[in-house]
Amino acid sequence: MTIDYVKHHADRSSADRRLPVAVIGAGPVGLAAAARLVELGAVPLVLEAGTTAGTTIRNWQHVRLFSAWHRNVDPVAARLLDAGGWRTPAPGDRPTGAELIEDYLLPLARSPQLAPWIRYGCQVIGIGRLGLDRTRGAGRATTPFVLRLADGTEHLARAVIDTTGTWDTPNRLGGDGLPAIGEPAAADRLDFSLPDVLGTDRDAHAGRHTVVVGAGHSAANTLLALVELARRHPGTRVTWAVRRAGTDPVLPRGVGDVLPARAAAGTDLPRFIAAGLITLARGFVTHRVETVGDRRPAHDPRVRPAHDPQVRLVARDGRTIDADRVVVATGFRAEHRIAAELRLDLDPVLGTSRGLATLIDPERPRLPWSGPPPHGVAELSHPEPDYFVAGVKSYGRASAFLLATGYRQVEAITLHLARHGRGGTVHRRWSTGRWTGPLPITGHPADSITGHRADSRASGSVSRR
Ligand SMILES: Cc1cc2nc3c(=O)[nH]c(=O)nc-3n(C[C@H](O)[C@H](O)[C@H](O)COP(=O)(O)OP(=O)(O)OC[C@H]3O[C@@H](n4cnc5c(N)ncnc54)[C@H](O)[C@@H]3O)c2cc1C
Repeated sequence: MTIDYVKHHADRSSADRRLPVAVIGAGPVGLAAAARLVELGAVPLVLEAGTTAGTTIRNWQHVRLFSAWHRNVDPVAARLLDAGGWRTPAPGDRPTGAELIEDYLLPLARSPQLAPWIRYGCQVIGIGRLGLDRTRGAGRATTPFVLRLADGTEHLARAVIDTTGTWDTPNRLGGDGLPAIGEPAAADRLDFSLPDVLGTDRDAHAGRHTVVVGAGHSAANTLLALVELARRHPGTRVTWAVRRAGTDPVLPRGVGDVLPARAAAGTDLPRFIAAGLITLARGFVTHRVETVGDRRPAHDPRVRPAHDPQVRLVARDGRTIDADRVVVATGFRAEHRIAAELRLDLDPVLGTSRGLATLIDPERPRLPWSGPPPHGVAELSHPEPDYFVAGVKSYGRASAFLLATGYRQVEAITLHLARHGRGGTVHRRWSTGRWTGPLPITGHPADSITGHRADSRASGSVSRR
């Protein structure tokens, strides 16, 4: 059941309306939130830890997205870009991560409408309420948020949208959710990011044996690239270790998937397994990882002969796999430490807001391929008024997040904030802060939003010193 924290706080008058809405993270969802705030006449303050927009996507820039451009672009952001003469990418093409950054995120972040509101090199390390710790209830809703940065400066905000993603907190190698025994010591033989096995990381994998651990689409992406590498470099071996026992498909076959490229992974991998191009190790619950062989760097073929395994995975049942490298594709988890002084109501399983958890719990019957059922601020809310987590972080440990869902989340959140703030006339369709239409495939239903000029006086920066 969704606890309607929004309704609980509906009567309060919110924190100072002249303050900006802080958006933490300039990834695709954070930038979409900023674009929508600008269009609604609210003032965003985007705090990005990296030096550019799309910083975490740089880590997987070589990967081609499963979804095409028309699903990857936020419609309000597109409108804003169009006004500046943006060269629209072909809607049906699937970009790589690098293209998503170069052709969409950077132009958006540099647009005159957004650029003034984005601060780079701003890593948020804590969020609180000015003068109130988590135990103080009185006046929370009317007290500004204070966001502390790593450099010791602070910013005030009337609301916070946390779109910091999950990239920095990958799940561990151990099958129990704990790190495998020996994991830190073997770190130089493990890849937690998605290695570019056909490009910059080729030498570490070509003609060698790689084990991919995990059963999601990131694992699938790497496996498909390794099969291609094996075609180009004979002697390349690929093992896929998954916890799941039994005979059912490891990856869903994608029947009815709205993303044909994602569905293809579900049918291609079984074919490659049947053809002996991938060795599938089922029911493999990794318990220990050991470094073996000599200790020369695995990635330098000049100093290390082939067929000299570097790492051994040991399962709980005693089975072992020797390999040169291990790709840990076990998913990600959301880390809420920066919000430790806020009142959060987290689902104990997924680490998401409880309302959303009931919609995306992977142990429930499979989600529709188009994404979760419609949800809005009620499902995304916490007891802390005006604090929201959106984007891939909102999904916690659940996978299958899509940008289209994140854009709908920030649509609902920003409309809710505009409704409770100055300016921003909102069509009654959105007045509940919940989206009701189909997922955005081509068009945008929010053409009913009236934009207002941003108020440049409303920035709220304070110095600690
Ligand atoms: C390999 C891969 C393929 C994917 N393919 C698809 C696909 O085909 N289609 C699809 O729809 N989705 C796909 N996704 C899922 C999802 O769309 C992406 O993960 C997307 O990047 C999520 O966007 P985001 O804005 O929520 O978070 P991110 O892109 O992760 O952005 C978070 C931002 O926050 C910043 N940040 C982090 N911590 C802080 C802090 N403390 N202070 C300030 N800034 C901070 C980061 O530097 C970063 O810029 C894919 C994901 C991966 C990993």
